[in-house]
Amino acid sequence: MTIETITPHGTPTTGSSAQPDMSREFNPWLAAEVRFDRAAELLGLDDGLRKLLKTPGMEVTVNIPVMMDDGRLEVFTGYRVQHSIARGPAKGGIRFSPDVTLDEVRALASWMTWKCSVVNIPFGGGKGGVICDPSILSRNEVERITRRYTAELIDVIGPERDVPAPDMNTNEQTMAWIMDTYSMHKRTTVTAVVTGKPLNLGGSKGRPEATGRGCLFVTLQALRRFHIDPSEARVVVQGFGNVGGLGAKLMRKAGMKVISIIEWDGALYNEHGLDIEALMAHRQKTGSINGFEGGEAIDRHEAMFLDCDVLVPAAKENVVHSQNAAKIKAKIMTEGANGPTTAVADKILAEKGVFVIPDILANAGGVTVSYFEWVQDRQGYFWNEQLVNGRLEEIMVNSFKDVVEYAERHHVDNRTAAYMLALDRVAFAIKLRGIYA
Ligand code: GLU
Repeated sequence: MTIETITPHGTPTTGSSAQPDMSREFNPWLAAEVRFDRAAELLGLDDGLRKLLKTPGMEVTVNIPVMMDDGRLEVFTGYRVQHSIARGPAKGGIRFSPDVTLDEVRALASWMTWKCSVVNIPFGGGKGGVICDPSILSRNEVERITRRYTAELIDVIGPERDVPAPDMNTNEQTMAWIMDTYSMHKRTTVTAVVTGKPLNLGGSKGRPEATGRGCLFVTLQALRRFHIDPSEARVVVQGFGNVGGLGAKLMRKAGMKVISIIEWDGALYNEHGLDIEALMAHRQKTGSINGFEGGEAIDRHEAMFLDCDVLVPAAKENVVHSQNAAKIKAKIMTEGANGPTTAVADKILAEKGVFVIPDILANAGGVTVSYFEWVQDRQGYFWNEQLVNGRLEEIMVNSFKDVVEYAERHHVDNRTAAYMLALDRVAFAIKLRGIYA
């Protein structure tokens, strides 16, 4: 797979009628393949190993019957993909969304393999998803979906096999239900079967903020390279949820000026930096960032192209693509979301000289603290927050250095370097283990 084969068809135009077809460029599995192929080529991996590393080890589809509140019987489709268990149990979140596809779950599972490998934690990669729209489901319906999905996967997941975590539209409560269902089947409480649990059910201190905190640590490293003092850094954050919101809060705490927050229903600007905690309180009260007095409302489609030092896309996939990447003015891009940049846009950003901290490194703080949670559950001994954050910082800073030095040594961009480093580690593990026949 090459970038050319996934370039959108049609000519980009400014009019609304002849929009190019972006479906191939936006297909996450094709995007994952392009990045994989580039890294595999540069590493000179042989064909057999390439085939093995590319193909998910296990894909499970479950069609789950669920009794709805109104007495109707509904059937939901769910997936769990284990991309690789070469370096340890599969690890990765479960998302609930009407748009979930097997291709998406496959791509996300492979990203988890590379992510865990980049930060060198002893996990493989997995991902799960259920096609459902939690915004139109009651809490009881979501609980029944979660429990039945877990029951169907009872022999697939497990602390030594495959350890789920929260992802889009799933949270601590979802993890508590999964842990309880699994434990009921096993007739013993197994906290280490999932991470991202509530604190009093074997969760870890620092887990909720871990992804945002990880983004902060790598961004600070990148700023140092640009000789930009954090207090001078102007940051634009897209997304105000677990990653973007908590990340923005921590960045402000570290002295940076978060000049813009972009959400799905609006964007705010303040050249002196937004008061993130006040904005969180406002959103909590009104349900939206709109109407906040401490910032000016700006066009949410244009905010990503503001003149700034750091752009943090922390909302969803494919927001930086062939049609808009050239407009990005940020010096540094910290990918808080999974897959916010398309493979075609990679090339444009590289030509512009944007310093991209790729998703598999930038947002790895979440899974790193998930690893700490899994370790603590298995030890039955819990760490204080300082220890969690200190160990997270050490891993993120070292991984950042590994990737950036690798990129410099091999004259490749940061994303390619991260993939090369990750693939190489997984390939080495496979070579050491050998193929069981
Ligand atoms: N869903 C998060 C991610 O994409 C966390 C996964 C985990 O903690 O296992 O990295």
